[in-house]
Amino acid sequence: PQAGTVALGATTNNAVAVQVQQQQHRRLEGKVAIVTGGARGIGEATVRAFVRHGARVVIADIDDAVGEALAAALGGACCTYVHCDVSVEADVERAVGYCVARHGRLDVLCNNAGVLGRQAPPASNGAKSSGIASLDAAEFDRVLRVNTLGAALGMKHAARAMLLRRGGGSIVSVASVAGVLGGMGPHAYTASKHALVGLTKNAACELGEHGIRVNCVSPFGVATPMLVNAWRHGEDEEGGALPAPVSAEEVEKTEEMVRGMATLKGPTLRARDIAEAALFLASDESRYISGHNLVVDGGVTTSRNVIG
Ligand code: NAD
Repeated sequence: PQAGTVALGATTNNAVAVQVQQQQHRRLEGKVAIVTGGARGIGEATVRAFVRHGARVVIADIDDAVGEALAAALGGACCTYVHCDVSVEADVERAVGYCVARHGRLDVLCNNAGVLGRQAPPASNGAKSSGIASLDAAEFDRVLRVNTLGAALGMKHAARAMLLRRGGGSIVSVASVAGVLGGMGPHAYTASKHALVGLTKNAACELGEHGIRVNCVSPFGVATPMLVNAWRHGEDEEGGALPAPVSAEEVEKTEEMVRGMATLKGPTLRARDIAEAALFLASDESRYISGHNLVVDGGVTTSRNVIG
């Protein structure tokens, strides 16, 4: 731990100076984590936060070029990359095996990988969130395989590694406000995130006795490639398995739209805000929190008529 000193100020005739010793500790010191979908967006911000706080991190993603470059930039001693499609069990098992072989343990799994999916435009009768009448079964299945089954497989293999070591652990999944409310995204996405919130509660019930905590974080809109692409094309098109690169101008425009919808005025929701929430749930600071869904939305889900 490094100690720092912050001068808060000195006022009044007595010129009282107040100084506070501030401990800037590394909140994941000594821990080993896997972050799925860690190459980009919220996952990248989470990887950076975990590394900054002393964890050794394995990035598990399908975007090999971007993931490897990020791991190299953060330094091989504390960050490595492994190819892993979370919807393929053999990949997930291999990623966890790689982590345990390399670092001897797994303390934290962040199930962040996710896709938005494509959806047919709403029916022309004015319904705001339709498309159900032309639901594409294959696309529905794809989204649930990545967002829900992928997280479940992560929990399965992480739990096995954590149970073997008998040292407990923390599993943090990135759900969504679409896992809390309807009308916040395509049907498959909404179903997948509601299922993920439920899965989190169930796994927490089961794994608590082994000291393994299971929680999720539910963000509102963060201007990552996923969201920018969705709003660029409309909800009917995600932009493919690996969303196209986005410009700074598009990010700014998306952030402006999100700010307009948020209840909390002022700050712009950024990927690092979600990473901070995941960091808290991953660290021992949240040691008595399990089965919780930490909504990071600037108050959006407490208001009505959020979208439209
Ligand atoms: P993103 O598209 O910017 O990044 C997603 C990452 O996941 C990418 O690195 C991608 O390569 C990886 N990925 C995709 N499919 C994968 C698979 N099958 N296996 C492994 N990796 C895969 O998206 P993001 O906005 O950073 O989203 C991260 C998480 O946050 C997702 O679960 C998403 O649903 C959730 N979320 C995002 C928002 C938002 O507004 N951006 C809001 C709520 C929830």
